[in-house]
Parts: sequence; C-alpha cells; structure tokens
Amino acid sequence: MSVQVVAAKMAEVELKDVPNKELTAVSPLTPKAEEKGSSNSESNASATSPTVEPAVKGDPSPLSSTPNAAKMPQASAMKRPDPQQNGGEAFVNRDGTVAEAPRMKKQIQFADQKQEFNKRPTKIGRRSLSRSISQSSTDSYSSAASYTDSSDDETSPRDKQQKNSKGNADFCIKNIKQADFGRREIEIAEQEMPALMALRKRAQGEKPLAGAKVVGCTHITAQTAVLMETLAALGAQCRWAACNIYSTQNEVAAALAEGGFSVFAWKGESEDDFWWCIDRCVNLEGWQPNMILDDGGDLTHWIYKKYPNMFKKIKGIVEESVTGVHRLYQLSKAGKLCVPAMNVNDSVTKQKFDNLYCCRESILDGLKRTTDVMFGGKQVVVCGYGEVGKGCCAALKAMGSIVYVTEIDPICALQACMDGFRLVKLNEVIRQVDIVITCTGNKNVVVRENLDRMKNGCIVCNMGHSNTEIDVASLRTPELTWERVRSQVDHVIWPDGKRIVLLAEGRLLNLSCSTVPTFVLSITATTQALALIELYNAPEGRYKQDVYLLPKKMDEYVASLHLPTFDAHLTELSDEQAKYLGLNKNGPFKPNYYR
Ligand code: NAD
Repeated sequence: MSVQVVAAKMAEVELKDVPNKELTAVSPLTPKAEEKGSSNSESNASATSPTVEPAVKGDPSPLSSTPNAAKMPQASAMKRPDPQQNGGEAFVNRDGTVAEAPRMKKQIQFADQKQEFNKRPTKIGRRSLSRSISQSSTDSYSSAASYTDSSDDETSPRDKQQKNSKGNADFCIKNIKQADFGRREIEIAEQEMPALMALRKRAQGEKPLAGAKVVGCTHITAQTAVLMETLAALGAQCRWAACNIYSTQNEVAAALAEGGFSVFAWKGESEDDFWWCIDRCVNLEGWQPNMILDDGGDLTHWIYKKYPNMFKKIKGIVEESVTGVHRLYQLSKAGKLCVPAMNVNDSVTKQKFDNLYCCRESILDGLKRTTDVMFGGKQVVVCGYGEVGKGCCAALKAMGSIVYVTEIDPICALQACMDGFRLVKLNEVIRQVDIVITCTGNKNVVVRENLDRMKNGCIVCNMGHSNTEIDVASLRTPELTWERVRSQVDHVIWPDGKRIVLLAEGRLLNLSCSTVPTFVLSITATTQALALIELYNAPEGRYKQDVYLLPKKMDEYVASLHLPTFDAHLTELSDEQAKYLGLNKNGPFKPNYYR
C-alpha cells in the first residue's frame, strides 16, 4: 500500500473528539483531490522552484493503474545549497577522529566535526566525560524530564538481567518495573498526537508497513513511543536506540520493553553504551533492518561503518535533524548515498512549527526551570530573528520583558522592527540586559569581550542548534571561577565578584533543560510515519539514491489532520476562485519551494 492510499483512507477518518465534523481532513491523495480542472500540479510547482526539481518523471504510483488511483504527489529530490560548503564528508566519530573506512564499494569517510568535552567530573563514574553524541543531539528535541529517574541505582543496565512479564529479554533499559508509569506517560502523549492515532486506527487493517523492519535512533520519549506503537500497528517490527545519551525517559523505555519492543536506551548512557545500544539494534542473528528512522545520522553512520552490506536490503532512510540531513546531502553530493532518503527536517510542517512555535513555548520553560527568573520588565537581547528568534521574542514580549534584537540580515531586521522590537548591536545593550539568548545557528555570536561587559547576574543561554554560538571556551581561564549551582546551571565568577549565569554550558536550552510540546512533535512524527510508508512501498525506481522532500500536498495533509484539535473551520475554494488562482481545490495550495 502506498502512502497515498493510507492518506486517502485516513481522510475518511472521523477523528475521535472532533467537534466539527465539517472539517474532515482532506487527503491530498484521494481521487477527489485529483479532480480535473486545475493546472497547478505538483510537477508544475516543482518546475517553478529554484531549488527543487522532481526526481522521477511520469506517474510511477503503484496504484496508478487502478481506476481510483490518485496521481502520485511525488517526493522531490531537493537540491539545495550546501549550508556548510567546507564541511567535508558526512560522518564523524564523536571523538573527532576519522572513522575507520567501511567495507563497501565506495569508501565513506567521516568528516571532522567539532566535539566538545565536558571537563567537569560527573556523578556517574563509569560514564565517559564526553558531550552527548553528535550535534544531532542538539538540533532535535527531547524531554529532559524523566519522572522516575532512579539516579540512586548506579548499576549499569548492561549488567542487569531483565525480562518483561512475557519472558522476553531482548531489550536493555534502566528498570522494567517502571513500565506502568511509562504507560501512563504514553497515554497522556496520545491525547496530543491526533494524527498518529488516526493513522493507527484507519490504516492498521491495511498494514502498510507489513514486513517492514524499522531500526530507529531518536530521543526515546513518550512521543516517540506513540510513533513506535503506531508503526507497529501498521505492521512494522521495530528495534530502537536513543540518539542522545541524556534524553531517554526511562519509564517510557520500560513501557516499550514491556510491550514487546526491543529498546536499548537509558538516561545517562556513556559514549560506549551509546554505540553498544545502536549495535544491539542492528547486529542480530536472523533479523536485518530494511528501513532506517534516524535523528542526527549516528545510526546511519554506524551501519555504513560496521555493516555496509545491510544497505543491500535497506529500502530507505528517514532523517529528522538538520545535522543528519546535512550528512545525507554530503553523501549524496559525493555519490556515496546508496539508498533513497527522506529529509523530514526541511518539510514545511517541521520548520514552521518546531522552530517557531516550539521555541515560543519552551524558551520560558527552560529559563524558568533553571533560574526561576521573573520575566516582567526584564531587559532581554535575542541574537537572530529567524524562526527561533521570532518565537523567543514573542514569548518574552508577552511576558512583559523589554526585548532587543540583533540581526545581520536587513530583511529579518526589518521584521523585528515592524514587530516592535528595538534592533541594536550587541555591544550597545550588553551592559544593561538581564538575559542574553542566541539563536542564529552561527558561531561566536557572544564572545569573551561581551561576557566581560555583562552586568552581575546576567543570564546567558543558547537556543541555536550547536554550542558554538556562545564562546564558552573563553570562560575557561584561571581568573574565572565556575560554580555549578544546579543541574545545567553554572555561575561564572569574575575576580571582582561579578557573576554571570550560564545555562546548559551554551547548549540548546530547551533540549537540555525543559520539555517541548507534544503537539509539535505529533506533526513531525506524522511526517516521519508517512515518509516511512512512502519509501517502504515505493516501487523500484521511483526513488533513486538521493535525498527527497515529501511533497507539499503531504505537508498540507499532515497540517489538516491536526486542525480538528482546534475546532478549526477551513475555507474551501470555490470553483471560480480555484480557477482564478490556478489551483486545484484540494491543493497543493503553495508551490514546493514555499517555506
Ligand atoms: P534562521 O536561519 O531562520 O534564523 C537565524 C537568524 O540569525 C537569521 O535571520 C540570520 O540572519 C541571523 N544571524 C546569523 N548570524 C547572526 C549574528 N552574528 N548576529 C545576529 N543575527 C545573526 O534559523 P532558525 O530556524 O531561527 O534556527 C536558528 C537555530 O536554532 C538553528 O541553529 C536551528 O538549528 C536551531 N533550532 C533550534 C530549535 C530549538 O528547539 N531550540 C528548534 C529549531 C531550530
């Protein structure tokens, strides 16, 4: 079954608790959606795009021969400028060394990637003092809160013998006894993930993932559990590891293990544990994955490095994060990508929601949990007015803070001005502000000179994807004293007694110190599920060894599935209006390049 059919079936779903029955999610893929009379097809849209071009011509849908078959809104191979043109090859070892060459036809090399080591001793003696994994762990979300974090149990899960109530021992987690609590967490998350629940309900009769063996490496949270259980309901077998050593919710991992999933993850893994867990997912007699769901590229990297032959059976990779996608583009550019990959990160439903709305909600949470700061009347400078910056500024303004913005791009700068923010250079306000937030995706935005000039008590944090935005290394000099005052909170003290409050050592604040809203993750997770279904069911030749975006129609479809939650009433184009705008009444409503 193709993703089109699944989507078409889902369109018939009357979502539970949907107050407004008028608002039926409109599948981009129902026959209705393909009514004649519109000239704005996906391929037309693609043709106008400066960055996107269709990968396959014609209509390769497996269902196109059936009378009701929808024309395939194909994913498009995305040609976009390389954001890090000097980035070298795609994969790295986390210690910064070049990985051993994999045994495959074309040799894959692993690029140098900046690694930062946590110099502070940790409570967990056997844990290596490395930062978490790849930068993937800083550009996607996790819940930092694990409600049953039994930190007094220092026994490594690797040294424990555990079985679930059915006698299954094919997992490695902190404590299987936490399963009931984890189950409640999952049930709570289900309430905020309506599209996945609809997908589960409608498509499980069809089992579009029957025979799929999905190996996953993502944050293991209640939201991921809802995704995994949906994939299983659609017929997939799943084995899962964590993409971040700190983000696993132990109780959720326990609930998954109790439910029969082979999960290898716990909060506070060591570097060695991290790779061991990934290896346990893929290195198994009699079981080989045929799909990869990755967040950051570490799993893909491991398979390339250790088991390149596995790619003969793998039908595709679905990648969520900026970093992982970048690695895939690097591979593709070098002609070394040997299976098709879906770039979920650049789906409009990810960027427009994760970056903006997620940050709008979680910036306050991260600051509050770490510092108990009151926002009203505080002076804050936000560096960067992109999606993340806009979210942060909006939240702080709503709380009564006085917000300044720094920008390099006159367009974003003008937007900041017109949204009512004062555009300044950092050094103009650095002496007076109470909070400094970076969200540029750039490096050295806040340097030692700025840090020296900050006032006593100034809070400094980063919402950008990597820990390069604040020059934290410049604070590790002998005259400055570091005091760890709370988890993820350091006071850095100058000789005259001035102290600044540095959060999460300059890593992503919301990832490190708070949780993120489930509903946002639902949107991304639905996109991931549809991408898996599409790649798994695509006929030979539809996708080449390249990186693809899901079509705009699918983005619109994912969005439409989330509208009923808000009792939202979507306006339909009249025939006349559709003709006037040159659109199909059922979408896509925007060209593929629309962001
Ligand atoms: P964006 O490109 O839309 O915005 C970044 C802005 O910073 C741009 O407008 C750019 O002109 C500006 N900028 C660059 N260098 C600057 C400098 N030196 N001083 C001032 N402004 C500068 O990107 P975005 O979607 O807002 O994402 C920003 C970062 O946040 C990225 O690293 C992204 O990966 C990350 N991100 C974080 C989260 C989160 O939950 N914290 C979510 C999504 C993305």
